[in-house]
Amino acid sequence: MKYVRFVRTLFLFWRTMMSAPNEPSFRESVDMMFNRAVALMDLAPGLEEKIRVVNATYTVRFGVRLRGEIKTFTGYRSVHSEHMEPVKGGIRYALGVNQDEVEALGALMTYKCALVEAPFGGSKGGLRIDPREYNAQEMELITRRFAYELIKRDLINPSQNVPAPDMGTGEKEMAWIADQYARMNTTDINARACVTGKPTHAGGIAGRVEATGRGVQYALREFFRHPEDIAKAGLDGTLEGKKIIVQGLGNVGYHAAKFLRDEDNAKIVGIIERDGCLFDADGLDVEAAQKWLANHGGLAGYMDTHFDKDGAKLLEADCDILIPAALEAVINMTNADRIKAPLIIEAANGPITAGADEVLCDKGIVIIPDMYANAGGVTVSYFEWVKNLGHIRFGRMQRRHEESRHQLVVDELERLDRYLGDAWSMSPDFKRKYLRGADELELVRSGLDDTMRVAYQSMREVWHSRDDVEDLRTAAFIVAIGRVARSYTAKGL
Ligand code: NAD
Repeated sequence: MKYVRFVRTLFLFWRTMMSAPNEPSFRESVDMMFNRAVALMDLAPGLEEKIRVVNATYTVRFGVRLRGEIKTFTGYRSVHSEHMEPVKGGIRYALGVNQDEVEALGALMTYKCALVEAPFGGSKGGLRIDPREYNAQEMELITRRFAYELIKRDLINPSQNVPAPDMGTGEKEMAWIADQYARMNTTDINARACVTGKPTHAGGIAGRVEATGRGVQYALREFFRHPEDIAKAGLDGTLEGKKIIVQGLGNVGYHAAKFLRDEDNAKIVGIIERDGCLFDADGLDVEAAQKWLANHGGLAGYMDTHFDKDGAKLLEADCDILIPAALEAVINMTNADRIKAPLIIEAANGPITAGADEVLCDKGIVIIPDMYANAGGVTVSYFEWVKNLGHIRFGRMQRRHEESRHQLVVDELERLDRYLGDAWSMSPDFKRKYLRGADELELVRSGLDDTMRVAYQSMREVWHSRDDVEDLRTAAFIVAIGRVARSYTAKGL
C-alpha cells in the first residue's frame, strides 16, 4: 500500500508539473494509466516494461501523382505487442496523425483485445491526410499506394497484421486494401482476412459498420444492470429518459446515439461536431442531424434547434451521460473540473487525458474506459476475420436445421392449443419469432452482446473486490495486463 501511495503521489506531482497546456502526450497518458495499474500488480521483474513498450513503428513517405504533380504523404504502422498474432488495429486518416498517436492507439489495442478476449496483439496505423480534400478516385490511388507499402513489409497480412477502419476511413478504404493485397498475393487463399471492416459484398460481415456504436449501447446496458454501479455514478433507474450528450456524429457517435435513442428511449439532448453543437432539452432527432451533417459538412443551419459555435462548451453541460466519440484529449486539465456529467463512456480512444482522469475520478465521476467501451469494433472484426478464414457465412450450416427443429415444438404447441380450446393459446407473435433461425446479423449481435457483458463483469469484479482499485479504468488495465503477462509467461519469456 505504501508503494501505491508513493506512485500516486509521484503521479499527482507529475500531473501538476505537466498541467495544461503542457499535458503529457497521448502515449505518455496511456503509459501513465498503465503504470497506475501495474503499481497494484505483482509482475515478474522486467515484464512490466516488456508489455508497456512499443515493439516497432514503421514510418513511410510515398509519392502519388495527383492533379499534375507528385504529392508526398506520410503514413505509419505501429506494432505495440506481438504476444499474439496477428496484431490488430485500425488505420486512421487525419491531418493530426503522428507517431506518438499511432503508438498510443496501438498500445490501447493490445489492452483492448486482451480485455475482450480477441486473440490479437495490438497495432495501429495512420496516414496524415485530410480525406475531405480528395475525391474518391484520388483516395483510391492514395490508399492503394499506402497499402502497397505496408503489404510488401508484411504490415498488412492475414496471419501477421490485420487493419480495420478508424477515424476518416470506412468500408471503401478496407475494400481497396483487401483488393490490393489480393493482387500482390494471388495464391493466398486467406487473402480476404488481411483486413476487416470490408463491405459484405467484398468479404465483410453483417453488423461491422454499426459494431462500435452498438458496443457502446451494450456496454451501457450492462452498466445499468448493476444497481451498485449505477449508484456509484449517483444515478438511478434505467437508460430510459437519461439525458445524453454525444461528441462526434461519425460512425461511432452516430450509431451509439441512434441505438440509445431508438431502442433504449434515452434522450440525446446534445450533439457536438467540428463546427459547433446542437442542444435541445426535449431531445434531438439523431437521424436528421446526421443527414444534415453528411449533406452540409457541419451542423450549422440545422432546422430550428439551437446551434452554438462553441461546441466544446457543451461537454461541460448538465446531462446524465457524456459520450465523447470524436478524438483524443478533448477532456483535459483545462476543462476537467467543469465537467458535470456523472457518467462518461469513452466511445473515442483517449478522449480523457491522464491528468483529467484523476480530476474526474476525484469528483466521483464514473468513467467507462475506452479500452472496453469501444471494443465492439474489434470484437466484430474478430468475427469477420474468423469468417474469412472459415470461408463461410455464419449461420449458413445450421439456420434451416434450427428452424425445422423449432417447427416440431410449434407443431406440438398447436396440437395442445387445439386440445385445450379457449383455456390456452399461443401468444400472437410467438410462432413467428420462434420459428425464425438466426441470420448472420443476429449471431454477430449476440456474440457482441456476450463479449461486452463478460468483459464488463471481469472489470467490475476487480473494481468491487479490491480496496486499492478505485475506478473502472484501473480495473480494466489490471485484467488486460494480467492476460498479456500470462501470455508472455506461457511463451517462456
Ligand atoms: P469518424 O471519422 O467516422 O467520425 C468522427 C466524427 O467526429 C466526425 O463526424 C467528425 O466530424 C467529428 N469530429 C472531428 N473533430 C471533432 C471535434 N474537434 N469536435 C467534435 N467533433 C469532431 O470516426 P469514428 O470511426 O467514428 O471514430 C471516432 C473515435 O472512435 C476515434 O477515437 C476512433 O479511434 C474511435 N474508434 C473507432 C472505431 C471504429 O470502428 N470506427 C473503433 C474503435 C474506436
